[in-house]
Amino acid sequence: MARDEEILDLIELLLAAEIFNQNQNLDINDLTPIAREVYGVQSMEGERGPVVVSESALQKVLGIPDAHLRLEKHPLTVYEEFGHRLRITTLPAGFNWFIKHNGEKRIRKNPVLAWYAEKNNLLSDISHSASRDINPRFEDSRVSLDRRISKMLADDEKLRAGLDLIIISAPEEVEQTLDDIICTSDQVQRILKLKVALENLEFLRAHQVFDIGKLLFIGPPGTGKTSLAFALTRVFHMPILEVRLPMVTSQYLGETSKNIDRIFEVARSLSPCILFIDEFDFLAKSRIGDDHGAMKRAVNALLKNIDRIGLIRNNVLLVGATNHPQLLDEAAWRRFDEVIPFDLPDLATRQLILERLLQGFSSGCDVSAVARETDGYSGADLKMVVREAILTALIDSRTQLTNEDLTTGQNLIKNRDASRNKNCQG
Ligand code: ADP
Repeated sequence: MARDEEILDLIELLLAAEIFNQNQNLDINDLTPIAREVYGVQSMEGERGPVVVSESALQKVLGIPDAHLRLEKHPLTVYEEFGHRLRITTLPAGFNWFIKHNGEKRIRKNPVLAWYAEKNNLLSDISHSASRDINPRFEDSRVSLDRRISKMLADDEKLRAGLDLIIISAPEEVEQTLDDIICTSDQVQRILKLKVALENLEFLRAHQVFDIGKLLFIGPPGTGKTSLAFALTRVFHMPILEVRLPMVTSQYLGETSKNIDRIFEVARSLSPCILFIDEFDFLAKSRIGDDHGAMKRAVNALLKNIDRIGLIRNNVLLVGATNHPQLLDEAAWRRFDEVIPFDLPDLATRQLILERLLQGFSSGCDVSAVARETDGYSGADLKMVVREAILTALIDSRTQLTNEDLTTGQNLIKNRDASRNKNCQG
C-alpha cells in the first residue's frame, strides 16, 4: 500500500512537470510546495526554464531512493541515465493512468493537474482556481522571504543594520488567521477596503489616490490589535516587519532617529510588506512640553518617514497600534489614513469569542452565562479564562469542560486583577 502511494507521489510529480513545461501560462503558484522543492523552483521573477525531476531531488525531498528502480516496470515513464532524470513519456496516457489508479483526489489538490483536467474535460466539477486557493502561495513562504532579504542585502549591504531592529515573519510562519479573531463590522469593512485597494493599485496610482494604507489601531490592551495586524499578513500575502522597540531607542545622540530611518528603509526595500509598530505612542509621544531634543528629532524622523511610504506608492502597509492614543503627537495622529478603534468586547462579541475559543471543548457549558458574567473582560482575558479552564479539566483527566472549570478560570482573572490593584495601592 505504502509502495502504491509512493508510485503515485512520483507519477504526480512527473505529470505536473510535463504539463508545467508545456504551458508557460502556469506559474510558481500552480506548483504544490513539494513540487517547488523537487523542481528547485524558488523565484517568481523572470522567464522560467524547463523543470526537471532528478533522482537526487526525489531522494532529498521525499526520501525516496532509487526512484527509477521503483518505476522500472511503469510503461509510461522513462529514466535518462545521463543526468539521472525521470520523465513521463506520453502525457494523455499518463494522465489517464493516474485517474484510473486513484489519482483523482490528488488532481483536485494539485493546481497544475487540475488545470489540465479542467482544460481537457477529464473530471467533473474540477476547478483550477479552487485548487490554487488551497495551496499555499510561494510569496507566503519563508524561502521566498529569505530570497528577498538576500537580494535586498546584495543591493545594499548597509540595510543589514536595519534588520536588527525588526522581526520579520513570512505569512506561512504567522499563526493568527482572520478566522480566529472576532472583528467588528467596522473592522471587517476597513479590511475589505484595503483588499479592494490592493487589487486596484494601478488604477489608484493612475488617479493619484494615495491616502490609503496607514492604519492606527487604538484601544485597551488585549483587544486584538496585534492579532489583527499579524492576521493581515495571510490576507494580503505580505510578510510582516515588527519593530523591536527596545532596540530602536538609544541613549546615544541621534541614534534613535537614525534607527527609525533604517527601519523604514528596510520596509521600502522589502515591499510589499506590512510594517507593524506596536506601542506607537512610545515613538510618537506628544512633543508639547518636552524639550528633550533627541525625542523631538526622533518624532520628526518618524513623521518624515511616514510621509515617504504608502500602500499605493510603494506597497508598504503601515500599522501602528497604541493603548494610549491620548499621548500621541498630533502631527503623527493626522498622518494616519484610518484610525480603527478596538473596544472591549460587548456581550454578543464575548459570546462569539468564547464560542471560538471553546470549539470542541464545551459540549456541557453554558457559554452565554459566562459571556454575561465577563463584562469588562478583554479578548485576552477571555482567552486566559478558557486556558485555565482547559488546564483544570486536564488535571482532572477530562477533555470536555464544565461550567465549574470556566468559573475557576474567571476567578483567576478576578484574583489577578485584585492583587494588581492591591499592589498598585501600595
Ligand atoms: P492587543 O494587541 O490589543 O493588546 P492581542 O492581539 O495581543 O491584543 O490579543 C491578545 C490575545 O487575545 C490574542 O491571543 C487573541 O487571540 C485574543 N483576542 C483579543 N481580542 C480578540 C478578538 N476580538 N477575537 C478573538 N480573540 C481575541
